[in-house]
Amino acid sequence: MGKNDVTTRVGENDKEKETLNLLTSTQIVIHDALKRLGLPEEAYELLKEPLRMMQVRIPVRMDDGSVKIFSGFRAQHNDSVGPTIGGVRFHPKINDDEIKALSMWMSMKCGIADLPFGGGKGGIICNPRTLSFGELERLSRGYVRSISQIVGPTKDIPAPDMYTNSQIMAWMMDEYSRLRKFDSPGFITGKPLVLGGSEVREEAGALGAAICIEEAAKIRGIPIKGVRIIIQGFGNAGSYIAKFMYKSGAIIVGISDVYGALYDPDGLNIEYLLSRRDSFGTVTSLFEGTITNEELLEQECDILIPAAISNQITAKNAQNIRAQIIVEAANGPTTIEATRILSERGILLVPDVLAGSGGVTVSYFEWVQNKQGYYWDEKEVANKLRRKIVRAFHQIYEISKISNVNLRVAAYMVGVKKMVEASAFRGWI
Ligand code: NAD
Repeated sequence: MGKNDVTTRVGENDKEKETLNLLTSTQIVIHDALKRLGLPEEAYELLKEPLRMMQVRIPVRMDDGSVKIFSGFRAQHNDSVGPTIGGVRFHPKINDDEIKALSMWMSMKCGIADLPFGGGKGGIICNPRTLSFGELERLSRGYVRSISQIVGPTKDIPAPDMYTNSQIMAWMMDEYSRLRKFDSPGFITGKPLVLGGSEVREEAGALGAAICIEEAAKIRGIPIKGVRIIIQGFGNAGSYIAKFMYKSGAIIVGISDVYGALYDPDGLNIEYLLSRRDSFGTVTSLFEGTITNEELLEQECDILIPAAISNQITAKNAQNIRAQIIVEAANGPTTIEATRILSERGILLVPDVLAGSGGVTVSYFEWVQNKQGYYWDEKEVANKLRRKIVRAFHQIYEISKISNVNLRVAAYMVGVKKMVEASAFRGWI
């Protein structure tokens, strides 16, 4: 594993950033979900922000001998159900509001997948592209020392996220184990297999989304064989989804990356595209006659999968989407207003907190395997994941029917319910 494994995913043209109002829009949906459940305003007061938010400053000795101070965060949204869990991202543009909102999304995912956890999230403001392998290691270890008082296998469990990977998880686990003076694989998930990682962890997010695609298609009576799919984004999530769906007999008619999009109503050669894709998740620059990402979203297809960045489907283009089903593999690709328009148009929109819950579910499985010291094979992990996602999907679908709400609100209703119940039993509200 070299420096590029971590750094190549931050591109010059990287516009990947959560919207500035991510926290506000998350609060709006939480409030709506609580109201529909008939829960008191106190519950909203408890859940509208994380219980804890730690900001740290991390001194790192750089290769040239100087010392650079990095800022980092760790948010713990709610630990009424159990320890918190969630990724650590390395990105130049993260801020405290975004980390708070992301920890709240993790709480929703844990509730939806019925995991014994609440949501957490962390991050360091940095550009991993400009750091050497050694600097990245010292930064990762420094972060763990800075937050060590509030994390641990029974407190708060970190995981990989944007621009962090299994090597970084390995350094962090080693640092925590050194601090505690015993081996602690359960401190962190997304580790290499040899250090107690789990099978399927790397592709878990995409596999969860693929299972949601299959369930949504069943509901709409569309057979997967021959279904026409457009995927925006060809990175880790998008390329794995393309691979899984292509294998199941779907026709991938469109894909895109940051530079543009390819569309062919007869279907793209996915095996070829996967083999030519670079480590930035880009491939379209090899072709002539590409279209824009905006144009791709409005092309004819049965299922549209945004798997790149946030705010792609807005009030401006929601009327022009021609898919019957949208499965949000990316975080926050659809605005609140666009969600309303799509619901009115009868388009089935599977929200990010459900479609993206595969990663944290397999993190839970990794934590369980570390606790028991017995490891499952790939098939067992994949089957366990499928059972959880299918159950969650249908539970949310039923609630959306009974309560006459869209799947996003229904998912949040499931997401908040256990937290409110646990908080009430504990006497917090
Ligand atoms: P990635 O960095 O591997 O890939 C991102 C892809 O999006 C690349 O193809 C890139 O070229 C493209 N892209 C970047 N900017 C773009 C733009 N402005 N317009 C169009 N395309 C653009 O990231 P990833 O891990 O695949 O994650 C993608 C999204 O899915 C994120 O929102 C992430 O949070 C979410 N997600 C990923 C996983 C997973 O399995 N990796 C799991 C859950 C959620």
